[in-house]
Amino acid sequence: MSFLSSNSSVTKVISNEKIDIQKVKVASKIIAELQRDIPSFTQNGLGPFVAAIYDEMGNLVVKTANSVVNEHCSNNHAEMNAIKAAEEKFGTYDLSALNLKLYISAEPCIMCIGGIMWSGIKEVYYGVPSKSVERITGFDEGFKPHWFNEFKKRGIVVYGNIEAEIGEQELSNYINDGKKVYKPVR
Ligand SMILES: [Zn+2]
Repeated sequence: MSFLSSNSSVTKVISNEKIDIQKVKVASKIIAELQRDIPSFTQNGLGPFVAAIYDEMGNLVVKTANSVVNEHCSNNHAEMNAIKAAEEKFGTYDLSALNLKLYISAEPCIMCIGGIMWSGIKEVYYGVPSKSVERITGFDEGFKPHWFNEFKKRGIVVYGNIEAEIGEQELSNYINDGKKVYKPVR
């Protein structure tokens, strides 16, 4: 795993490949935008996580938020909704040939890691790490042993901790507003 210290924050960008500054720059812009979009989704009962898929030319394909509560479906995380929408759009269950990139406001959970693996998405970029999501919100992100390495074995590039501070602030706002932290009662 490689690391990159950002000047503006204490958060280190991490990756399962040698860090490509250009990829980090593009991802920073997109993820900061996703983070800032969070309130527009949470106002409508969606979120607080947002995902977007871009094509290899840098065009937006789909942007989605969690719809677990609204649609009564525990599977409807932002990433799963984005993958479903992209696959519907392109009429395929395998996105591999399209070289798509997935950008997420926070680290994918155990379910979404599986969903990404089966989708054929080639590159994954996320903002807030799961440890911070769990600390701030109380969401359970699941157990994810060595997932960076497992993705690498399967040719999937991952970059994490991009613009995490903006996302952490939005997640704090979500909690402070008394919004729902959906998970099964144990
Ligand atoms: Zn998830």
